[in-house]
Formats: sequence, C-alpha cells, structure tokens
Amino acid sequence: MSNNEINKDFEIMIVGGGPAGISTWLHLNKFDPDLASKAFLIEKKSYPRDKLCGGGLGGWCKHILKLLNVNLDIPFLNISDVEFIYGNDSYILHQKNSFQMVQRTEFDYLFANNAVDRGLIIHQNESFLNVSKKDNELIVKTNLSNYKIKTLVGADGSLSMVRKKMNLNNRNNLAPTLEIFVPVSTKFDKEYNEKKILIDLNPIKEGMQGYIWHVPLIKNEKPIMGHGLVDLRFYKNRPKVDLKKILKQDLQRRNIDIKKERIKSHPIRWPSSDDKFSKENIILVGDAIGAEPAFGGGLHFAFSYGEIAAKSIISAYNDNDFSYPDFKDRINSHYAGKFMAKCWSIASKLYNNEIDPIKAAREVFTIKS
Ligand SMILES: Cc1cc2nc3c(=O)[nH]c(=O)nc-3n(C[C@H](O)[C@H](O)[C@H](O)COP(=O)(O)OP(=O)(O)OC[C@H]3O[C@@H](n4cnc5c(N)ncnc54)[C@H](O)[C@@H]3O)c2cc1C
Repeated sequence: MSNNEINKDFEIMIVGGGPAGISTWLHLNKFDPDLASKAFLIEKKSYPRDKLCGGGLGGWCKHILKLLNVNLDIPFLNISDVEFIYGNDSYILHQKNSFQMVQRTEFDYLFANNAVDRGLIIHQNESFLNVSKKDNELIVKTNLSNYKIKTLVGADGSLSMVRKKMNLNNRNNLAPTLEIFVPVSTKFDKEYNEKKILIDLNPIKEGMQGYIWHVPLIKNEKPIMGHGLVDLRFYKNRPKVDLKKILKQDLQRRNIDIKKERIKSHPIRWPSSDDKFSKENIILVGDAIGAEPAFGGGLHFAFSYGEIAAKSIISAYNDNDFSYPDFKDRINSHYAGKFMAKCWSIASKLYNNEIDPIKAAREVFTIKS
C-alpha cells in the first residue's frame, strides 16, 4: 500500500502495547470477540521491549489476570511484606502474596503474546503520529500508513502522543523517577532473602514529595535489586530537590556508588480531578490518563482502564454513538476510579504534612477484597 492510500481494514486502533493497551483488547475479546476482531494495535517498539518500572504487580492485578485467564508463566517473586520507614518508625504490612515482582520486559511480552494467541493483530515498530477528524470517523497517520477508523484508544504511556493531539488542556502532572538495577548484596540487601519491599518515606523531610524503594527482583534466574525513587511533585510550586543526591546518599549506605551504575529515568504521570480522558472517537487508558499521585502505582489502574475502555467501546457500537460522553463517569464509578480519588486525597495530605506518612502508605498499600 502506498503512503497516500487509506487502510480501512480495522475500525478500532489501539496505540501502545503495554499493559493498558493489551488489557483493553483482552477485555474487548472477552466481552465481545466479534468487536475485538475489528481492532488492531500498533506498538512503536518491537517485543520484547523494556519499560522502566519497579515491576510490582500489586493491588488488584492478580484478580484481573485471573479473570482474563492469563497465567504468569514467567519467573517472578511473590512478596507478602511491605515495610514502611519514616524517622524512627517502621511498620511491616503483611498480606499474603500481595505483590508479584516481575521483569516488565518479560511480563509485557507474555501479556501481548496472550492477546496475539487469541487473535490480536499487532503492528510492531509502527508509531502513531497524528489524528484528524473526517465526517464521523478518524484518519490516523502513523510512520508507516494512514488508517480510517471509528475509535482510537490512546494507550501510549505517560508521554502519550495521542493525548497531546487531543488538545485536552489537561495539566501536565509529571513525576520524575530514578531507578537502578544491581546484583543483590547479601550483606546490605536483606529485602531479597526476606522477600520484602522497603518503602523509605524519609525524603519527605527533605522536601521530596515521594519515597525511595528497594525491591527484590529476579532477572535471568539471578537475584537483583531495584533501587529507585519518585518525586510526585503533587504541589508543583514547591522547590525542586536534588533527586540524584538523595538517591546517591541513600545507596551509599548499601555500599553502592551510583556513579558506576546506569541510572534510568522515565516520568510517571498522574491525573488532575478535572482532567478529560476522551473526546469524540478517542479514549485514553493507562498512563496516558495517569497513575495514582500518592505512590505512583499504575499497573492495576492500567489493567482496569482496559476493562472500562472495552465496555465503553461496546456501548459505543450498541448505541451507534462514538462520542464517549460518559467515559470519565464510567471511570469515576469503577473501583479503580474510586481508589484513584482516595489516593488523590491521601497525596494532598501526605505531601502537605497533614497525615503520618506511614499511615498514608498503609492506606494505599492495603488490599481490600
Ligand atoms: C520507575 C518506575 C517504577 C514504577 N513501578 C511501578 C510498580 O512497581 N508498580 C506499578 O503498579 N506501577 C509502577 N510504575 C507505573 C507503571 O510502569 C505504569 O503505570 C504502566 O507501565 C502503565 O502501563 P501503560 O500500558 O499505560 O503504559 P506503558 O507501559 O508505558 O506502555 C505504553 C506503550 O506505548 C508505546 N508507545 C508510546 N508511544 C507510542 C506511539 N507514538 N505509537 C505507538 N506506540 C507507542 C510504548 O512503546 C509502550 O510499549 C512505575 C513507573 C516508573 C516510571
């Protein structure tokens, strides 16, 4: 097909093959396989592709994977303890297998393969570039082709190009992160043997609106640790802190000189309460909407946004109305949306010294069944 021709093979395009995009299609396929066959996905990279992440599948991730019949057939660590520290206080939250620690490269590949095995067509190495409206449909331009479609799902992450092209006037709530992955030191990284996540809230005292994490992982059958931090910058006007310095000082206590290690970084986005998540023929899911603003967890939201998006697309077809007028209401009334509102309220108190940080962390990390 030449560059000027318009591809009309599909009616629904999902942009981004991370957890949100794949969850959207798997839910669509579960609820309405005929409609799912009208959808395809473009992914700008090729699998297995990396995505910077702590790798903690927590919250209700396990529940959704079960409902979608996806087995976690990759190496992972089950975590039952999350320890929070702040000043002289510490608290261990014990919940059996509350987190599965995965390598995102492996998990995202497995998740995508589950969808491909059930019939999803993925165009790898294809990037969304632009979208324009024509009559009641959309013309989407990618680096490889032009498509005429009825619904576009922006699942392209925190720096979403789809969101940018929607011109929604949402606030740009971006939270910087730093993370390094290093072999486990038996002397310093007791979290690996104890199968525990450590959340260090002390940087709040230095003006950082976030925390440092130390998480045990497994890579190529070898034990490794992920050490990282996030500054949610919930209150944007406050002075910025030197994140590298904070991480460096912390890791010196573990005898890690971060100058020698490769520090990685990728922003987490969180939504404001007045953000818009859709417009005619277009909906957003996953980090394109945002992770929660208290601790930056996003995978459980990405999974749920996929479910909500699938149900919204089915309604659009049933009602022959592709304006997605109630998409945000559907999110707000879903348990994910309600939990997002709770995290928002906790973040506003936590980063304004109105709540004990350990209490705040317990509220966000406690899984209610
Ligand atoms: C350092 C760090 C640690 C984190 N730790 C955790 C954690 O432990 N637990 C947790 O729950 N959450 C964590 N998160 C958040 C979590 O990683 C995200 O919420 C999750 O990845 C969101 O999934 P997604 O599918 O929306 O986006 P992504 O995983 O970012 O996937 C987006 C996909 O879209 C593709 N794409 C981008 N642009 C285009 C384009 N123009 N065209 C086509 N494709 C495109 C990308 O290549 C990518 O594959 C962390 C985030 C960071 C940065």
